[in-house]
Amino acid sequence: MIVEPKVREFICTTAHPEGCRENVKRQIAYVKEKGQVCGPKKVLVIGASTGYGLASRITAAFACQAATIGIMFEKPSNGKRTATPGWYNTAAFEELAQEEGLYAKSINGDAFSAEVKQQAIDMIRADLGQVDMVIYSLAAPRRTTADNKTWSSTLKTTTGAFTEKSLDLRNNTIVTKTVEPANEEELEGTIKVMGGEDWMDWMDALTDAGVLADHAVTVAYSYIGPELTYPIYTEGTIGQAKKHLTETAGRIHEKHPGIQAYISVNKALVTQASAAIPIVPLYFAILYKVMKEQGTHEGCIEQISRLFHDKLFAAEIPTDPQGRIRMDDWELAPQVQGAVMDCWKEVNTENVEKLSDIEGYWEDFYHMFGFHLDNVDYSRDVEIQVEIPSLV
Ligand code: NAD
Repeated sequence: MIVEPKVREFICTTAHPEGCRENVKRQIAYVKEKGQVCGPKKVLVIGASTGYGLASRITAAFACQAATIGIMFEKPSNGKRTATPGWYNTAAFEELAQEEGLYAKSINGDAFSAEVKQQAIDMIRADLGQVDMVIYSLAAPRRTTADNKTWSSTLKTTTGAFTEKSLDLRNNTIVTKTVEPANEEELEGTIKVMGGEDWMDWMDALTDAGVLADHAVTVAYSYIGPELTYPIYTEGTIGQAKKHLTETAGRIHEKHPGIQAYISVNKALVTQASAAIPIVPLYFAILYKVMKEQGTHEGCIEQISRLFHDKLFAAEIPTDPQGRIRMDDWELAPQVQGAVMDCWKEVNTENVEKLSDIEGYWEDFYHMFGFHLDNVDYSRDVEIQVEIPSLV
């Protein structure tokens, strides 16, 4: 089949298998170029198929030579529709890891469920004995808890309505968008889905099963961002969930003193999860322009490679007063934020292409789905039914 992008606002409903493979190859090449890290050897990545989780899996495997088990929630192709990008990424990752003699297996299912936790435990026990690192990188719209109740995550404010400039992704125009406040149930739902409860459940289950090494490290990802987006992010429903996630790091450490639990506050990047947040994409596009001009722009792989090299596995782990690792240090640098705010005040439909890196934003968006890569021949027929070696 000849696969073309089909974009609807902030989602692309097709993915290109060879483009996704190229993305994974490029990330592996980057990690190899940066050199080895004396880090974990057996790693469980929860949310391993796209964005920060995929970059974490690639870094663990190719910088630390770690065996990896990846958990994801992706759709294979049915022969007519393409698979989701995370499916193709994982197929490519496993193949490329195995070519280098690295153990790599994946579980495709709901990470929130007891069944998937048990599958992971059985796989670790049978193949690896124990894991010494757990990366928690889930971004999910909903979660069904053990009592069979389904909770939804919402991107709303927790104070009043918030009105700001926003980028209309359908036609690249600047519009004004109002985000409404959440009700109690929406706030509770967001904390249930994106807070730390499930991270704790994972750590309890792995510890109880004896498949977590003494002094294992676990890290979960968070975001803070600039004051401009506080009402919609940090002080919004998602920020309350991230607050819960951050507190959970402390709770994990209290309950399981041997485990080192960290929050890494990462940089704003275009991923499937973040493209859906209102107002934020315009900030991203301006941020990209400023950071590229100042030479500090990073993608997921650059962020996670730096996390492993300079922070998590450095002689001493640098943290802020709340104990968090700050990978958003370059994003929040005063010279970056000052320039971003100057552009934000001025930006309108006429000057958006000049004041923001809207092209870079869209390139990253297309790349996520395996499109717009210069060395992939999109006019060629490709097989869309691709197998993931460990799931066959
Ligand atoms: P993403 O959408 O690229 O990745 C989400 C991953 O979770 C995928 O592997 C997906 O398959 C998996 N997943 C989703 N639901 C699942 C389920 N029920 N069971 C199993 N797997 C499931 O998202 P991302 O942007 O890489 O986000 C990962 C984490 O990083 C999130 O906690 C997010 O808040 C955080 N973060 C993101 C940004 C950003 O700008 N993108 C910045 C800082 C922190």
